[in-house]
Amino acid sequence: MTRQPNLLFIMSDDHASHAISAYGSRINQTPHLDRIADGGMRMDGVFCTNSICTPSRAAILAGTYNHVNGVTTLATHMDNSLWTFPKALQGAGYQTGMFGKWHLGHGPKHDPSGFDFWRVLPGQGHYHNPVMVQAGNSDGSSQIVERGGYVTDLITDDCLSFLDRRDPERPFALFCHHKAPHRSWEPSREHATMYDDVDIPEPDTFRDDLVGRAEVIQAVKMRMMDLDPIVDLKSPVPSGLTEDEEISWRYQRYIKDYLRVVASIDDNVGRLLDRLDDEGIADDTIVVYTSDQGFFLGDHGWFDKRLMYEQSLNMPFLIRYPARIEPGSTNDDIVTNVDFAPTFLDLAGVEGSPKMQGRSFASLLDGETPDDWPTSMYYRYWMHRDGDHLCPAHYGVRTRTHKLICYYNAPLGQPGALGPADPMEWELFDLVNDPLEVHNIIDAPEAAAVRAELEAELARVQAEVGDAPFVPQ
Ligand code: CA
Repeated sequence: MTRQPNLLFIMSDDHASHAISAYGSRINQTPHLDRIADGGMRMDGVFCTNSICTPSRAAILAGTYNHVNGVTTLATHMDNSLWTFPKALQGAGYQTGMFGKWHLGHGPKHDPSGFDFWRVLPGQGHYHNPVMVQAGNSDGSSQIVERGGYVTDLITDDCLSFLDRRDPERPFALFCHHKAPHRSWEPSREHATMYDDVDIPEPDTFRDDLVGRAEVIQAVKMRMMDLDPIVDLKSPVPSGLTEDEEISWRYQRYIKDYLRVVASIDDNVGRLLDRLDDEGIADDTIVVYTSDQGFFLGDHGWFDKRLMYEQSLNMPFLIRYPARIEPGSTNDDIVTNVDFAPTFLDLAGVEGSPKMQGRSFASLLDGETPDDWPTSMYYRYWMHRDGDHLCPAHYGVRTRTHKLICYYNAPLGQPGALGPADPMEWELFDLVNDPLEVHNIIDAPEAAAVRAELEAELARVQAEVGDAPFVPQ
């Protein structure tokens, strides 16, 4: 009988592909993440269906879109009685553990479920000396644990302890969910002075003036000047700088801390990979590295995520499974976070649930793309005008060549989505001729035919997943 594979699922928070050297980063090196790519597959077409922490996590665990699992915004927590793929693995005899960032709510109705053991950060958690919450009290309530040290190291320590304690005769599914590199990017002492002597290159669209883009996009508060000097940049702004100079100074402060925090993730991923090697179980273990969404690293002048632009929409996805995946391979087919659950169950030979909306991409890992593989994906960001970022509510469709975005700009009563509503606006990008997404061609006469095609495709994918179009009141 073929042994069922172990699953080591490592997910960071807000780590964009373009800060991973396996994806050709121009700004850092990630040798340990690259080990996963070198020994397996780098997937280039993986997208989140809602680019924000809590909803993306729910989509991954439940294998459903947010209008189905109910986790539409940061203020909606996941009902832990929902079917999830870790529950299916646990039910099939897997030893399951969840460590690190949960961010799907706390208390009897929202604590992690489907895990033999879990220890998570409350809410966002802290980088240094974090408090954690774990299963344990006999009345079902959780225990508070005070930890000393740096969060990325501690989460990794907990994962290694889980491996120490497990029964080696049964497969495991281990979830290592890093808090890093989420805002406010606080490095460990070991990495505090990394990059001190270098200038990190600014991205091509760093000075994007956003001309021609939707008005709500021009109003988004995610520019370098919107970073808090003390909290985010850990320094008062030096006096005597021109505005251009200050923007560049802010970028350097921001991106260096982001990359220092990423360096700690990379080191700690190395510790986990070394353990698999030392135990001789690397061949039997599926290792995944991903992030709950992407992030703007100065692209379009922004930080943060939320929007359907590529750097935010795209998720890094590196997967190694020597028994099945060709080392050093790549794939650029369109996959979403809703597809993760059916894929992992498929690889484990465990039955899924009819509730899942995604589709297993195991055949893509084998190097074969089925003829009917999707060539488009549906996206929806439900929040509107949250207090800090002012990002608009929108939905859209991305194909292999184009992207159509409808900023419907209304809160629709969603928790955490604020009013007032704004007039509806649209954007259309040609990703082949304008991969940087700086030319909105929504009103270009020569794009009329492609616009009509994309509008029809948006309606089709929206109906296919069971979501409904916005209807102005
Ligand atoms: Ca996130």
